[in-house]
Amino acid sequence: MLNLNNIIELLFPVRCAGCGEYLRRPICPRCNAAIRRVSGHTCSRCGKPTAYPVDGCLQCGAHMKTVDRAVAMAVYEEPLRSVIHKLKYGNGWRLAAPLGAMAAASLAPHLLSERPVVTFVPMHFRKRRERGYDHAEKLAAGVARALGLEAVPLLQRARPSPAQASLGYAERRLNVRGAFKPRPAAERSWEVVVVDDVLTTGSTMAECAAVLKTGGVRRVVACVLARDVLDTGQAARYRAG
Ligand SMILES: [Zn+2]
Ligand SMILES: [Zn+2]
Repeated sequence: MLNLNNIIELLFPVRCAGCGEYLRRPICPRCNAAIRRVSGHTCSRCGKPTAYPVDGCLQCGAHMKTVDRAVAMAVYEEPLRSVIHKLKYGNGWRLAAPLGAMAAASLAPHLLSERPVVTFVPMHFRKRRERGYDHAEKLAAGVARALGLEAVPLLQRARPSPAQASLGYAERRLNVRGAFKPRPAAERSWEVVVVDDVLTTGSTMAECAAVLKTGGVRRVVACVLARDVLDTGQAARYRAG
C-alpha cells in the first residue's frame, strides 16, 4: 500500500523523534528549542535545579556522596521524554549522536581534567542482546565524540537487576547493590564521566561511581540527558522506601 505517508517516508525518511513530523532531522528545530535546558543553580550531587547552589539536596540526601558532580542537560519532560523513549525502545540509536552532543555542551564547563575517560551505565548483556544495542553506550560515544574523546567501557553488569521504575528508594539501592563490577581498561584517568539517559533517584549512578572509586578513580561526573524531578510526594516515598 502506497499512501501519502509512505511516499513522504521514501522522499524524506527522517521523522523528528519529538513531534513525529517528517522534517529530515532526528530532532527538529522546534522540538530542540522546546527542550528546557537546565540553567542556573543545581544540586551538585544529583543535578536537580535548585533556587541556590547546594551540595546535596533534600531529594538526594547523603546517598550521592560517591558522585562529585551530576550534570543534566534538561529536565525530564516533553518533548525530551518522547525523544529518549525512541532512543531506548524505538531502534533510535541514531539519536545518540545529536543528543550526546547536546549533553556534552552542558557537561564541558564542569570537567576539571583535559582528558577525562567517558564511560556509561551498561545494560546486562542479555538485555543488550534482546534490544540489539545499549542506548547508554551509544549516548556515551556521542558525548565523547563531541569532546574529541572516545567512550571506554569501564563497568559491566555483574547480574541482571529488575527495572528500577516500580521500586521505592530503599529498594532501588538494594536492587543495584553489587550489580556492577569493573572491567579492565587500558585507558585510565583520575576523572571519569559516567553517561546515562535519565537520573531519577541516582541509586544506579551512585553505585557505578562507588565501583569506579574503589578502582582508584578520584572524581566521578554523572552526565545525563534528563533529570527526572520527582514531586514532593514521590520524593518522600523514595526516602521512606
Ligand atoms: Zn519536532
Ligand atoms: Zn541533590
